[in-house]
Amino acid sequence: MRITRLYVTHDLSAGASIGLDRQQSHYLNHVLRMKQGDPVHLFNGRHGEWRANIDAIGRGWCSAAVAEQVRTQPAGEGGDLWLAFAPVKRARIDFIAAKATELGVAALWPVTTEHTAVGRVNTDRLYANAIEAAEQCERLTVPDVREPASLRDALAHWPAGRRLVWCDETGGGRPIADAFLAARDDAAGDWAVLTGPEGGFARSELDALRDLPNSIPVSLGPRILRAETAAIAALACWQATLGDWRKTGDDGA
Ligand code: SAH
Repeated sequence: MRITRLYVTHDLSAGASIGLDRQQSHYLNHVLRMKQGDPVHLFNGRHGEWRANIDAIGRGWCSAAVAEQVRTQPAGEGGDLWLAFAPVKRARIDFIAAKATELGVAALWPVTTEHTAVGRVNTDRLYANAIEAAEQCERLTVPDVREPASLRDALAHWPAGRRLVWCDETGGGRPIADAFLAARDDAAGDWAVLTGPEGGFARSELDALRDLPNSIPVSLGPRILRAETAAIAALACWQATLGDWRKTGDDGA
């Protein structure tokens, strides 16, 4: 059986004793029925991954003694991928957070547009989904969840140099693989994928996106995809052509 991995915020080093939070403790105690001495793996996004052993467990609390490092934290490789997306409703936004985490995004950014039908975004919930996915998929980091912004503000303050690949359902973009393969010799640096809401981008938003320097409209083919399908498909294309799916072996991330 695979050893349970847990994300913690504490520093990790040999000999440290880590108090796990209520939910994690409940999970270890009541779901996995762990006992004193049982192994878990801990990671915090900074110090790699460590083997630890439960040293005390009770109702709603648990502590783990950190033993030895099993993976080191890879040095940042300079350049990452964000997913900016128009929020969708509950189960589907949870799905986006989890799948985008598995697909290696460095940040999740809810960006509301004119036709976005969802009101407040629960960023704590997005983060919880990202943590759970990171624990499950062997990531050593958890993506940032950026504060929701309007598309207008996001574009007005768009980070210079971060290329914005936006999924254009009007058919105005290049086929996505062609766009990525064309960028292959110049792929270093930061990227973002943006998807629109179920209602699609408004005309003025399409114009603003086209005007942004470094923006690349792409097509995902002749069918109109649900927003979450579009997000996941675009991230998969990026990883396959420009990202870490091209590497072999375990290099963390
Ligand atoms: N109501 C819109 C569809 C929106 S789909 C319409 O009927 O035209 C939600 C989002 O997914 C879109 O804004 C776009 O970002 C992305 N998307 C869906 N299908 C796509 C496709 N074939 N090509 C590119 N982007 C697509």
